[in-house]
Amino acid sequence: MTGTHGHPEVNIGLVGHVDHGKTTLVEALSGEWTDQHSEEMKRGISIRLGYADATFRRCPEGEDAAGYTVAEECPEHDVETDVLRTVSFVDAPGHETLMATMLAGAAIMDGAVLVISATEDVPQAQTEEHLMALDIIGIDNIVVAQNKVDLVDADQARRNYEQIQDFIEGTVAEDAPIVPISAGQNVNMDLLIEAVEEEIPTEDRDLDADAEMLVARSFDINRPGTTWDSLSGGVLGGSLAQGSLEADDEIELRPGREVEEGGQTEWRPVTTTVRSLQAGGEGVDEVTPGGLLGVGTGLDPSLTKGDALAGQIAGPPGTLPPVQEEFTMDIQLLDRIVAEDTDEVEEISTGEPLMLTIGTATTVGSVTSARDGEAEVALKRPVCAREGAKIAINRRIGARWRLIGVGTLRE
Ligand code: GDP
Ligand code: MG
Repeated sequence: MTGTHGHPEVNIGLVGHVDHGKTTLVEALSGEWTDQHSEEMKRGISIRLGYADATFRRCPEGEDAAGYTVAEECPEHDVETDVLRTVSFVDAPGHETLMATMLAGAAIMDGAVLVISATEDVPQAQTEEHLMALDIIGIDNIVVAQNKVDLVDADQARRNYEQIQDFIEGTVAEDAPIVPISAGQNVNMDLLIEAVEEEIPTEDRDLDADAEMLVARSFDINRPGTTWDSLSGGVLGGSLAQGSLEADDEIELRPGREVEEGGQTEWRPVTTTVRSLQAGGEGVDEVTPGGLLGVGTGLDPSLTKGDALAGQIAGPPGTLPPVQEEFTMDIQLLDRIVAEDTDEVEEISTGEPLMLTIGTATTVGSVTSARDGEAEVALKRPVCAREGAKIAINRRIGARWRLIGVGTLRE
């Protein structure tokens, strides 16, 4: 088995069209199937990001030329492999209505593997849409995995490869390596790991900066019927953008919670204490950027239940970006609706609702005024964000939200 070793130091997104093999690839590399929420999916409640860790290893010098692997022993020899690093995979759902989940997930990706099936024409709708999202969020460390090559003949594989080359030309993935693989048959995993090692390096992190955790999930981990004296506090899941966290640190969450007072509602930050930390599936004393982590807090679990705090930011009290209930953004519209041939993007108009993704937060805003290249929005749910934050802008077209542009938060 693969087994993990060390804590994840980088988050790698799996993006691409539904059924092209993202979850299969994560399983091939980590031994884990990330579609864990099948029960929720069946009931249509929600589909969320899956994640799994994998440790990349390499055969010792001289044992095997392209000896990248996740195995603890070299495939050809009876010697232990050297550990390179542990990574966290963030598995984005490919279903067309889940662009918001993908965009929010992209906020915690350091790089991405774009999975494209060799069995279909390029690009399929979400292949293009996800690549556009990476571009908007500024993720340019990309590896393209040309998957399912076991299902096509050499000619088809070559034609598909050329289609991929044409497709990525002029995009943020222009210089990305294209690695033909079969995730299902475990073919060329060594070459894929090598490409990821080269294209998605671990960035230097500023550990002295104030901690800033992007909260992607939040949970109540207590079983129904747990008595009050044995209740565990609320748990946050997400990733550190900067700084570090230790047990007993005091943290604040923004925007916090909505409180009602005298017929008025307002959002107030909540403060709590870090009680426990999890990284790479085990308890740790300190967490740093890279990898997905779990933070046990002293919060009332009813506050964290069912992802209620997803999209918020946590960090030392008084250090977090401001809470925005309305703001002005500079806007760059796309030339056309992604994955449609002809539909031009119409200007944003006053009064229209927009779905905005800012960091891991997704919120609906109503346009209160729109001019050339800028718009003012009032949000249903406020977000914690600083000047210059990138905003993915989605408009409702027919039955779904479509990406129409990128905004930059103006103060
Ligand atoms: P996702 O929607 O992108 O996560 O796709 P999945 O990983 O769920 O894969 C979709 C289907 O394609 C599943 O039935 C997989 O077993 C199959 N599949 C994925 N990768 C390969 C591959 O390399 N070869 C073959 N033959 N089938 C694959
Ligand atoms: Mg999947």
